[in-house]
Amino acid sequence: MPRSPWKTWLVVVLILSVLIVGTISFLGWRQSVPGVRATFVPPPAYIGLKTPLTLTLTAARGGVASFELRLVQGTQKATAVQQTFLPPRQTEQRLSLTVEGRSLGLREGSATLEVYGRDGFWRPIRVDDRPILTQPVTLDLTPPNLDLLAATQYLAQGGGGLVVYRAKGAARTGVNVGGIFFPGFAAGAPDAGTHAAMVAVPFDFPVASPVVLSAQDEAGNSVSRSVSSEIKPRKFPTDSVEIKEEFLQRKLPELLPERGSVPPDQLLEAFLVVNRDKRRQAEETKRAVSAKTQGKPLWQGAFLQPRNTKVFSNFAETRSYRFGGQDVDTQVHFGYDLASVKESPVPAANRGTVVFAGPLTIYGNTVVLDHGLGLQTLYAHLSRIDVKEGETVDKGAILGRTGTSGLAIGDHLHYEVLIHGISVTPLEWWDGRWIRDHILKPLREANVALIEGDQIKDEPATSPRHSRPAR
Ligand SMILES: [Zn+2]
Repeated sequence: MPRSPWKTWLVVVLILSVLIVGTISFLGWRQSVPGVRATFVPPPAYIGLKTPLTLTLTAARGGVASFELRLVQGTQKATAVQQTFLPPRQTEQRLSLTVEGRSLGLREGSATLEVYGRDGFWRPIRVDDRPILTQPVTLDLTPPNLDLLAATQYLAQGGGGLVVYRAKGAARTGVNVGGIFFPGFAAGAPDAGTHAAMVAVPFDFPVASPVVLSAQDEAGNSVSRSVSSEIKPRKFPTDSVEIKEEFLQRKLPELLPERGSVPPDQLLEAFLVVNRDKRRQAEETKRAVSAKTQGKPLWQGAFLQPRNTKVFSNFAETRSYRFGGQDVDTQVHFGYDLASVKESPVPAANRGTVVFAGPLTIYGNTVVLDHGLGLQTLYAHLSRIDVKEGETVDKGAILGRTGTSGLAIGDHLHYEVLIHGISVTPLEWWDGRWIRDHILKPLREANVALIEGDQIKDEPATSPRHSRPAR
């Protein structure tokens, strides 16, 4: 029986319909595949003279084929970066870009950063003529103003100083000494733009270490000025310390409580953990505590050395540790050890705020006082702490009592002066004349009233009492 023509037509129409629906849904799927996505980490708020950007591009299909970064200001558009990627194309491109703001030919002020991106995936209708990311930014092409006003002329290894300068339009200012950055603080009359930065020269830095003042604005535009301070060399002593088995047996439970009792054949190894790892931990805590500083000086006049104390160990002394007749370790001692009678009262060297009060590994019970602008003093091996964190104390106020807590052989005070966490010799700060000539002088030269301590010039210069009893 012959097939009726209308049935043939029905089959043809059905097949055509399936093909058309199939094609439409295929094209629809092609069109629906999302395009390239872009993210800035972190999103930039400013474009400056040289602004680094981290841009991540991700393609759902076809890989990242190209991108363009444009800066738009009203009707003006400028291409900042453009790049094409050849096959095989990556699904993700993580790009470190640098935009040079001046080359864009736009004026300073608000602008929009636009990111365009294409993948290698065909779609019926092109979707890459619209930005895939827009980011409002400020175009800032003016570096901060920076003038050096005055600085400590003679710095010394293991010593401190002060740099006074004027900075305008800056977000971050400070002084770099041989690679260590010391932040500055606004000082003097408001709106004058005057700043002061306390600096330190670590005891083992070469005398040729560069001292450079710098300022950076929000857009990352920076300027720097060389500071003509001279660094004088200093000699530091060496000493050797005999560690006795009996001392370790007595001390290790306190210094390494996690170990419990240490068998005699592990005493040396446990001591080295304390002397190296616990010491390093304490140094890290000192650096962290240094950030808790006030932007104004709390101190006035020479720092106090506790009465009737004898110095029996010096700043930056390189110590050989001996155990069982052998040299087992070498470490640097960053303070002065001051001995008097047992459990002597420990006075605050100057006015300051307690920023640390508690046990600190090898230092035992420790108090750190902040005197502002990054200057801090540390009191260690205490048998008792009589102050709390956050408390502000006057010069001479009793912080606690001396003792033997931590890695201390006999009752004494371990005293340190720190500038932004870098230990410097306490001798400078015990000496009113040194303060006048090295800290107050640059302030006076720059005509910045910061420390009400100029009457210090009438104060007799104090010099620390030295003696080294045999040990
Ligand atoms: Zn000490």
